[in-house]
Amino acid sequence: MNEFLQDCRDAIGSTFVLTDDLDVQSYETEWRQRFRGRCLAVLRPASTAEVASIVKLCRQYAVSIVPQGGNTGLVLGSVPDNSGKAIVLSLRRLNTIRAVDIANNTITVEAGCILAQVQQIADHNERLFPLSLASEGSCTIGGNLSSNAGGTAVLRYGNSRELCLGLEVVMANGEIWDGLKGLRKDNTGYDLRDLFIGAEGTLGIITAAVLKLHPKPKATQTAFLAMTSPEAALTLLNFSRDAFGPALTTFELISSICLDLVHQHFPAIPLPFPERVSYYVLLEISDHESEEHARAMMETVLERAMQEAIIVDAVIAESVAQSTHLWQLRENISMAQALEGKNIKHDISLPSSAIPEFMSVTRRELDQQFKDCRIVCFGHMGDGNLHYNISPPPDVSDVDFLVHQDEINCLIHDQVHQFKGSISAEHGIGMLKRSELIRYKSSIELEMMRSIKKALDPANLMNPGKIL
Ligand code: FAD
Repeated sequence: MNEFLQDCRDAIGSTFVLTDDLDVQSYETEWRQRFRGRCLAVLRPASTAEVASIVKLCRQYAVSIVPQGGNTGLVLGSVPDNSGKAIVLSLRRLNTIRAVDIANNTITVEAGCILAQVQQIADHNERLFPLSLASEGSCTIGGNLSSNAGGTAVLRYGNSRELCLGLEVVMANGEIWDGLKGLRKDNTGYDLRDLFIGAEGTLGIITAAVLKLHPKPKATQTAFLAMTSPEAALTLLNFSRDAFGPALTTFELISSICLDLVHQHFPAIPLPFPERVSYYVLLEISDHESEEHARAMMETVLERAMQEAIIVDAVIAESVAQSTHLWQLRENISMAQALEGKNIKHDISLPSSAIPEFMSVTRRELDQQFKDCRIVCFGHMGDGNLHYNISPPPDVSDVDFLVHQDEINCLIHDQVHQFKGSISAEHGIGMLKRSELIRYKSSIELEMMRSIKKALDPANLMNPGKIL
């Protein structure tokens, strides 16, 4: 392998071939710090041509590749396994904004651009790049596309897939596919772009993308709403869709335990209501007329929701600072739960109409089998996506609780399957959910996926052991 590493140094410069333990540690460790793999080296190319050279060398020496962006993924997709045989290919130095085409409403960026940077460039050009995640300060466009990231504005703008028009990809054989088209219509056969989106780096390496920009809204309004049941939340979702139409941008469900955890671990964030109820919704609209128009629309609709007893209380943010506080209540849930101790996470999606029944049936099953476990349920209900996380009862240690991880996963995912949902709404499969993918996908689906993998990566060098 010394010869391979020397060839890599010649290709991209020795500074960008990392092998020291201290240098590679953060690239080998997943975001939650629960798993650290081992790699042969971390390679940090700076251009598509350099990525292509590395892939050709990997092919020549039969070295497998783990592509990595911001390493914020939550399913062990961006870190190597324990073998120490793969390289981590960090795309972060590919961070050029190649073009902004205002008239076409597109931006062409390299894969290592940080999401927040792309949002800012769009904003400077009086446009909106609507993908928005709590990890936006460190995740990259390549990672967003490879995991088909969702986030808080999917309801209005779609997942990453819907925001991408074209791709540049270094294929497993080292050839560069230039699919950087900014077209909204192109029916010339199979959609190759869509194969690489959500592929978690198992089919090729995304090096650049053409992304869709949207008109920048004139105003947004944020509200925090209280209700007594998931059924009321579902009624509110449909009521809001009808009343706000396309202005409805965010609809996030938050159960009361989430607010308790955030309050406990982040007491400086003000709570919107003095009394606790069972469920809350963080709702945001964006409007293309004016601040006054947006405010009037929000007030009118929420007044009707109160009159119809769908909600029991409401706060509309009076300022940007108050809106930020309301968002902080939502965005700090994962962190508050992590500070509380270990938990078992599920990133599931269901038809929205099935959410209340799913929640009631699954709670009953969990109560029967794992008495007093804490269900920390929140998420993008507007897209049917729940983060259905389970924390141990307060008097049970993490270690004693995590022994039941597989049983709990199975119980919850079996219910998801019964309700025709998905065991991974937005985080992907990685190494973490591989066995469950096999449990819930049909043999026909698995066979099609394996055929695609074989066709595009016959030597199985692209992120092997992930997804399939
Ligand atoms: P990485 O973690 O580096 O990689 C993710 C996957 O993509 C890996 O399989 C990797 O091999 C592959 N990959 C990375 N770059 C490339 C490339 N250029 N070419 C080919 N393959 C590549 N996700 C959501 O969908 N919605 C959320 O709301 C959300 N919220 C989050 C909040 C927090 C606090 C955190 C930590 C994560 C969250 N995530 C969320 C998960 C994660 O941030 C996203 O999936 C993000 O899109 C990953 O981007 P990344 O650059 O960090 O990718």
